[in-house]
Amino acid sequence: MVLTGLEIFKLLPNKNCGECDVPTCLAFAMKLAGKIAIPQACPYISDEAMEILGAAQSPPIKKLTFKYSPDEISIGAETVMFRHEKTFVNQTLLALEISDTLNENEFNKELKRIESYKYERVGEILEPECISLINKSNNKDNYLKKLKIISSNKKKIIILSNCSTEIIKEAVKIVDEKRLIINRVDKLEEVINIIKELHIPIVIHAENLDELFDKVSQCENIEYKNIILSVDFKNNNELLRGNVFLRRLAIKKGFKLAGYPILTECYDEGCLSSAIAGICKYSSIIILKKFTGAFLFPILTLRQNIYTDPQKPLQIDPGIYKVGEPDENSPLIVTTNFSLTYFIVSGEIENSIYPAWLYIVDAEGMSVLTAWSANKFSGEIVGRALRNSGIEERINHRKAIIPGYVAVISGELEDELPGWEILIGPQEAADIPKYLKEIWK
Ligand code: SF4
Repeated sequence: MVLTGLEIFKLLPNKNCGECDVPTCLAFAMKLAGKIAIPQACPYISDEAMEILGAAQSPPIKKLTFKYSPDEISIGAETVMFRHEKTFVNQTLLALEISDTLNENEFNKELKRIESYKYERVGEILEPECISLINKSNNKDNYLKKLKIISSNKKKIIILSNCSTEIIKEAVKIVDEKRLIINRVDKLEEVINIIKELHIPIVIHAENLDELFDKVSQCENIEYKNIILSVDFKNNNELLRGNVFLRRLAIKKGFKLAGYPILTECYDEGCLSSAIAGICKYSSIIILKKFTGAFLFPILTLRQNIYTDPQKPLQIDPGIYKVGEPDENSPLIVTTNFSLTYFIVSGEIENSIYPAWLYIVDAEGMSVLTAWSANKFSGEIVGRALRNSGIEERINHRKAIIPGYVAVISGELEDELPGWEILIGPQEAADIPKYLKEIWK
């Protein structure tokens, strides 16, 4: 259960001694609530309070981690109902389904199509992370043959769907267990016996929530907690209500049986709207049965937007960037380190006939006007940044183009950079190609 600062405060000794490096117990309680301190920092907490706080410190939704070359990727570990309360932690993973009934040619072609879905947006690569191989042939040898083909892709997480115990016994020998999820099995306990030592997550399917909690409880009784929840909701209304109910039970009520990640399967009809509902409301994995690039891109974009930290603007590292192959005569354009600004400006420079130097000022991830009004993009700050940037060694002119919206800083900037000419660029990035054509001869 997530405790508020005041609820935590009531558990503290109220000595206000400051030994936890915070002057008062109330301030310490607030830090604990914000998860930026640990209860052990107070030497006077009672055992009983420690137990409650310890339980409250672990996330109410279990975290499951997979190998996702070259790193790892996790699901679960969420702590809030709404993104704006803090942030959502681990983004929904997308799985594309492939059937083992395709002949080898078709199968390879479909696998290639799945692997080709990859997009770059504001500096991040967006792609589905998982492949769900569904057993429709009921032929063990055929399924394992197709699994071997998929496992040659060393990056994606593989979901084994609809498999018998016999298939699972062999499948775990083919694929690294840290890249596997078991989905839809008939004999739950039998399968858990096979995967117990390997800690492979298993999806518990049920037709309704009562059945789901019964099955989760069975798993917990045999001490298996690498669990993912899935209910066969009949429509999107049920899906939304069910997912919200599960999240609320886990986070607000501390109901342990609901404290696991959720998997949603999207069928042909309403597939897009189910995926949107799942991303917005708490599905940790979504299996898509039908997909095209035009279908996937908006889903991946939505996911990227939902799972950014609202407290941290998307930003890129400040510094000098080359757009094209600029030389010592190329223009120098200055802007802020808000990712979207960077990508729009660099895109428009690419659209012009001029390669250019792009100097990105650290404006704490704010866009140009916001940064200027917050005093993060003043003449003094931009001037100091340019002086220390080393750009003077790369260009033989002393001209800097600033965004038209902050023309007002040009005088101060010229005072900061004696010998430089400050040119006022266009207000809109879309006008950069035309502007460069006119002024940069
Ligand atoms: Fe309060 Fe404990 Fe911090 Fe002392 S060390 S101020 S008792 S929380």
